[in-house]
Amino acid sequence: MFLRVAIPIPSDRTFLYAVPEALAGDIAIGKRVLVPLGKKLRTGYILEKTAEASGIDIKDIIEILDREPLLHEEDIQFYRWVADYYFYPLGKMLGEVLPAGGERKSERWVMLAPGGDRCEMTGREGTLSPLQRKIVELLVRYPRGVSVNKLCSALGRQELRAELRILRDRNILRSEDRLPGPQLAPRRERFVNLRDCWPAEVKTTEKQLSLIRFIEQYGEVPMSTLRKTFGDCSALVKGLLKKGIITLSEREVHRRPGPAPELGAPGGSFVLNDAQRSALRKILKDVAAQRFSPVVLHGVTGSGKTEVYLRVIGETLRRGGGVIVLVPEIALTPQLLHRFQERFGDREIAVLHSGIAKAVRYDQWRRIAGGDVRIVLGARSALFAPVRDLKLIVVDEEHDSSYKQEDHMRYHARDLALVKAKLAGAVVVLGSATPGIQTCFNVRHRRYRYLTMKERVERRPMPSVEIVDMRGEKGQGGQGPAPVLSRALGEAIGQTLTAGNQTLLFLNRRGFHTFMHCADCGHVFKCLNCDLTLTYHRDVGSLKCHYCDFTVLTPGSCPRCRSRHIAGYGLGTERLEAEVKMLFPEARIARMDSDAMTAAGAQERILRALDRREIDILVGTQMITKGHDFPGITLVGVISADMALNMPDFRAAERAFQILTQVSGRGGRGDLPGRVFIQTFNPEHYAIRCAQAQDYGKFYDQELPLRQALNYPPFSRIVKLILSGLHREDGQASVERLGKIARDAAAGLGGLAVEVVGPAEAPLSRIKGRYRWQLLIKGRDSRVLHDLVREILARTAGEPIDIKIDVDPVNFM
Ligand code: ADP
Ligand code: ZN
Ligand code: ZN
Repeated sequence: MFLRVAIPIPSDRTFLYAVPEALAGDIAIGKRVLVPLGKKLRTGYILEKTAEASGIDIKDIIEILDREPLLHEEDIQFYRWVADYYFYPLGKMLGEVLPAGGERKSERWVMLAPGGDRCEMTGREGTLSPLQRKIVELLVRYPRGVSVNKLCSALGRQELRAELRILRDRNILRSEDRLPGPQLAPRRERFVNLRDCWPAEVKTTEKQLSLIRFIEQYGEVPMSTLRKTFGDCSALVKGLLKKGIITLSEREVHRRPGPAPELGAPGGSFVLNDAQRSALRKILKDVAAQRFSPVVLHGVTGSGKTEVYLRVIGETLRRGGGVIVLVPEIALTPQLLHRFQERFGDREIAVLHSGIAKAVRYDQWRRIAGGDVRIVLGARSALFAPVRDLKLIVVDEEHDSSYKQEDHMRYHARDLALVKAKLAGAVVVLGSATPGIQTCFNVRHRRYRYLTMKERVERRPMPSVEIVDMRGEKGQGGQGPAPVLSRALGEAIGQTLTAGNQTLLFLNRRGFHTFMHCADCGHVFKCLNCDLTLTYHRDVGSLKCHYCDFTVLTPGSCPRCRSRHIAGYGLGTERLEAEVKMLFPEARIARMDSDAMTAAGAQERILRALDRREIDILVGTQMITKGHDFPGITLVGVISADMALNMPDFRAAERAFQILTQVSGRGGRGDLPGRVFIQTFNPEHYAIRCAQAQDYGKFYDQELPLRQALNYPPFSRIVKLILSGLHREDGQASVERLGKIARDAAAGLGGLAVEVVGPAEAPLSRIKGRYRWQLLIKGRDSRVLHDLVREILARTAGEPIDIKIDVDPVNFM
């Protein structure tokens, strides 16, 4: 028997191995194996069994690392699709997707050669460099050796490896590859139980009796619990065992994230309203049909979408199906988890996200693969969970950009949810108050079923939204930049404070981007080719397009109204917080953004304080826009709608509309009506107008023709190449060569099949010492785009730049 194995290395290849007789019985697809690769031992994943293989030097696998498969054949089919679509090595993906810690690979260790420590005294090998001496001194202290990785982090030198080679050539040290034990293994625990009956004549001591009473009360008890209660009780247990009163058994226990929750009543006993009932009925029809059916559930904030999900999930479970529920990163709150646990019971649910400890993830993953857990709830990576008999995927807030991963494998979990559902023949529910343009486009082309819920539950009112025209706001003495808070918003905050209610102030600060605008008429400078906001570069005094490289000197006056009042716009939450403190010194003010929320539990603390009305004004970024219900919040202020609107990104208007609609939805979820103020220099902009009216259809009708005119998605697809290098000049030259190759290759396809845009310097032109550029390839047919990218990669293999690929990019920074 032979195996095709994927190994987590940066290579598109998979590898063939033979199976020794002794291991053949335990082989199964989806298990991990230890295999030799080059001189090292690595963990690999079994993808396929084959009876024959050609090739001469096929090596044997060394060991099987799992008792039960971590993946199943249909999962592997899905992963293969993903690897291919996102240009990412399959083995590397598996290494990142599977819970870390269970895999093994050999490491290089170094130790002194016999007599190596005396090398200097004898003068045998000449003198040592200071770094070489340090290495030798260190190894003298560790006679059994040190792993090279440890040595590198201890001495922190790049040239260390070269020095090691010199020392080895001089016979001062030697090296070998060692295999460390696994970091993670299933945890086993011993349990004590009473025998049903034991001989009556057996006498017990006082101590033994109290232990027996304890077990009678609690039933089967793990040894660890007994130890906590009785101290070291192994002798006690041994005695009872001998007398035949108790039994001892051992089995695996699953580690869990935190203590078991205290659950209330299952909830959800209220009567669904008409819109909910109608949506539910239609989705359940799809569930009953047992085939791939994509459904969009478009419901305003607070319309009761989550309640619909919960009931669909319940029905899917009843039919024996498995479920994946995806929520945006920041919406995965304990409240939400609690709602699920109360409805379905704690043991039915696995929670997967990056914040969960390795060992817990490992145990949860194995319970999912084994079919013990049928609901997986998590952020984007939960989509990769090997859920058995998958029949339903729910993607809540499907428009949310946190579904896109922006490093390693750049994938979009919402898009992949559709792929996975299709392979599994499952229903996929995409829920949102503001579905993405892409999703709505698919609805209009009848690819997805469309369900809508237009009202909040129990007819709670939607908040009233006012637009504040910042062009009329002047700084002190009628001069200077516009103030951070308009008069109208300032007054509203004052009134809210007086009434004893709470205020949210929202500022979408992406500090690194500044745009230039006319403070009198609101005009924003845009690229002639791409219709995108130009980014201001202070150092060279120019405005630049980061798609096509179009550049102009910063104009001195406004082309629309001739005003010379041209200014950059940039403001962060920290400054906002300070201003608000100054204006309302008596108010209790807190700030919530990723800078302020680094400490574990900080976000929870603020949300709890908000809930207990210990905060009057909360200042924050997107983090405050989702998932939380606070009846005391009656005022929401959007400090600058323009920040979102003027991102250099063709989706800027879509994002602005979504954010404004979502933020507005935060207001007035309790009994009190909510008020929303949106401050802007562009009060006529359709994204702002439509958000004010909560009119999704109208926004869509205005946005779509603009996308079509410039051939942006959903009318085309984009693949972005992210190019980076350590040296600016070499990088630039290389980037230009690559651009020419891309254009030639595109021209080879003839006609307008593919368009190459750029290369241009990226808006974040330097990250971690690397200079960055980007190149966009745009076209209708994804297969043509993929072939072209492959060709470009093949023809630029020797270039001194790093190329990362982003398929269907959502971030153009
Ligand atoms: P969404 O997900 O659309 O924002 P939720 O499902 O979270 O809305 O519902 C908002 C609130 O209304 C929740 O507290 C929920 O328990 C409650 N709710 C949902 N459906 C109903 C209903 N039919 N009657 C009364 N309350 C409901
Ligand atoms: Zn102007
Ligand atoms: Zn441009």
